[in-house]
Amino acid sequence: MVVLVSIGLWRTAGHETDDRIAVVTRPKRVMGTTCALAAIVRYRERTRAEDALSRAEAGLRTVEARMSVWLADSEVSRLNAAGAGEEIPLSPECLAVLRAAREAAGRTGGAFDVTCGPLVELWRRAGEAGVVPAESQRSDARAASNWDLLELTDRGAIKRADGVRVDLGGIAKGSGIDEAAAALCDAGMVGGMVVVGGDLACFGEQAQGRDWPVDVKDPFGSGRIAELRVRAGAVATSGNYARYVEVAGKRYSHIIDPRVGRPAEGAQSVTVVAPSALTADVWATALSVLGPEGLGRLPSHVDALMIVGSKDDHQILCTPGFRALLAEPIPAGLTVWEEGTGRPQGRVAF
Ligand code: ADP
Ligand code: MG
Repeated sequence: MVVLVSIGLWRTAGHETDDRIAVVTRPKRVMGTTCALAAIVRYRERTRAEDALSRAEAGLRTVEARMSVWLADSEVSRLNAAGAGEEIPLSPECLAVLRAAREAAGRTGGAFDVTCGPLVELWRRAGEAGVVPAESQRSDARAASNWDLLELTDRGAIKRADGVRVDLGGIAKGSGIDEAAAALCDAGMVGGMVVVGGDLACFGEQAQGRDWPVDVKDPFGSGRIAELRVRAGAVATSGNYARYVEVAGKRYSHIIDPRVGRPAEGAQSVTVVAPSALTADVWATALSVLGPEGLGRLPSHVDALMIVGSKDDHQILCTPGFRALLAEPIPAGLTVWEEGTGRPQGRVAF
């Protein structure tokens, strides 16, 4: 989980009209998790911040209303409930996210796959029942989790089998954060930050004009493992430690490896920095499946840090671009992954 540490940095007294201040809201029950929105404005324009923040919050709630599988009347739930062969109309926004998700399936070699709803549901039920699914159940759910069974049209989507289930849980949050950050930017804020759960986007300048500091949580403890300095862009974290199911005494990730139909075991925790929250969200989930070999698949301008292994025996890897964003002190034993080698190289001692 990424923890925001910057929002406290606002000036409290002696405002000049050109001073920048942060106006912060913490709306409740956004996408089933915690949320904080910050708008940086000049002191004399502070009344505009409230309005910008309400619009940003509305943007988040609209994305949730469209894309949540937990809301029965969302567009995604209507698609999931529909039978094969019928064209289900979708909003352009929802279609754009589905197209981005389909492209991500290709780029990640199938590690990120929003058609994996049947597998997600199978393993969620396994967690509730405390029983590992049988091989036959896994292969049925795998067969139903497939982009070949979902056609996207200009206006919506058509399922090719009744059992197709789309799950946007690994991309909708990022999309909502981007919408909210765009609302703050369009409203003319000097800077802004949108945090939902462990993911965030920021732009412009914070109240004291420095980069935005962002903590990367230690997946094995309560503190942070690193601190990032982000100028503009997005950060997303996926990890086993925050959400998991336990079956027969073993912890399973809530992220599924669609290629084998089992919970992912690629990494304990992955933090991704990218130009958009949607991209960061997608790659944090995908790298949790792929593990270190996935670092070689990252597009340019996307960087990651991952923690692989157990509490007592783990490795911290990051791309060179991520290393450049780390504040001192650098995590002990950090390995900087070098492109072209396909494997981590050059252990850096700190
Ligand atoms: P969080 O929601 O905790 O931030 P993620 O962004 O990694 O975590 O998203 C995990 C969610 O994505 C799961 O709860 C599930 O809804 C969905 N999901 C699980 N496995 C995959 C996958 N391989 N590809 C795409 N979505 C997935
Ligand atoms: Mg994600």
